[in-house]
Amino acid sequence: MTRTIYFLLGLVLAVVGMGVILKPRWYSSRFGYHFDLSELNIPIGIVLVLVGSIFIWSVLRNRNRMGTGGFLICPRCEAIYNKAEISEKTCPKCKVNLEELKGFYEKS
Ligand SMILES: [Zn+2]
Repeated sequence: MTRTIYFLLGLVLAVVGMGVILKPRWYSSRFGYHFDLSELNIPIGIVLVLVGSIFIWSVLRNRNRMGTGGFLICPRCEAIYNKAEISEKTCPKCKVNLEELKGFYEKS
């Protein structure tokens, strides 16, 4: 769940950053707010977009790393093996084919 929040946060930051670049003057008649960022909109916008991109990038990178690993489970004795640690796809004890284990061991 944390990754989803980071991803959305990154997306919001990037969109707000783009908004600041494209529309530096903000005025809200309801609250009487008036921002004028027209002199600083480019650096502020770039920083926001960069920070947002870093969030999104780190989420995507973690997802890719998860995809290459993974675990296998023996359907008979229910022992779990790390794919990286075993050479064959059979249980050393039962000599039966191991099955993919999906979703269970995601730690975040
Ligand atoms: Zn087994």
